[in-house]
Amino acid sequence: MSTIPTVTLNNGVQIPQLGFGVWQVPDDEASSAVRTAIETGYRSIDTAAVYENEVGTGQGIQQAGAAREELFVTTKLWNSGKADWSGQAGRDAVLTAFDDSLKKLGLDYVDLYLIHWPRPMHGSYANIWKAFEQLQADGRAKAVGVSNFGQEQLTRLFETSSLVPALNQVELHPHFPQHELRAFHAEHGIATEAWSPLGQGKELLTDPALVAVAEKHGRTVAQVVLRWHLQSGIVAIPKSVTPSRIRENLDVTGFELDADDLAVIAAVETGKRLGPDPQGFDWN
Ligand code: NAD
Repeated sequence: MSTIPTVTLNNGVQIPQLGFGVWQVPDDEASSAVRTAIETGYRSIDTAAVYENEVGTGQGIQQAGAAREELFVTTKLWNSGKADWSGQAGRDAVLTAFDDSLKKLGLDYVDLYLIHWPRPMHGSYANIWKAFEQLQADGRAKAVGVSNFGQEQLTRLFETSSLVPALNQVELHPHFPQHELRAFHAEHGIATEAWSPLGQGKELLTDPALVAVAEKHGRTVAQVVLRWHLQSGIVAIPKSVTPSRIRENLDVTGFELDADDLAVIAAVETGKRLGPDPQGFDWN
């Protein structure tokens, strides 16, 4: 298995360009999935408080036995409507939620901590970000970033804080390539990370145009799509609990997409999201 390239974040921390996502993996299956992923060669794991599998993820990390400094662990704040995220009490609530995640993971730091959704209708993310500044300053999160933020929310953070998010994790795949947001990230030194990079294993992976590219290279469509992410400078975190797919999704460095392939992939864009539009998305 060839070595996975890294992306250098705006504070110098390096993130592997390919990681392993564990959304929808039950807590009691997460340990074996994460252990398999690390043993296969993944060095980056993406979980979240709301996935309710931080305990299993942490166990998988311990069982795999890789040195902590070789791993890149991401988790996310579930800034739900159940708490008030304003003022000092809101900032304290962030620190409490962070401590809870660390405890469940069995770690004493994470490599990346993200605000999971902006919930812009509540306007509390700028206050939450102040607590994130503290977590990074204390070295308990090596880098801090956001998820599902749009240009408007990123601009508001720039106005209220000198700490530019290291990364924004958003829905992104060839059907929904997020050109504008990626350009904005590049302008401001924010890394782009793709969630659902394989389009959740749905229509994207049977798209005839992508099947043709895959056949040309003697690869699978999943590998072509992940190769596209890597060549586009995007960090991708595909998920699978099937060991053969876990291996397949990491084995994407031994071939190169050419200009013709990239043109074919650019043409499959539909502009349709699989997930909710973060600008109007709220929950309790
Ligand atoms: P994904 O695009 O990674 O697709 C995963 C699905 O694709 C699997 O469940 C499986 O059905 C299929 N699959 C995987 N490998 C395959 C292969 N080689 N061949 C054929 N089918 C294959 O979707 P995802 O799980 O939604 O996203 C990946 C990760 O992104 C999540 O696990 C999570 O960590 C993160 N995520 C974050 C957010 C957020 O709001 N920040 C939202 C969704 C997902």
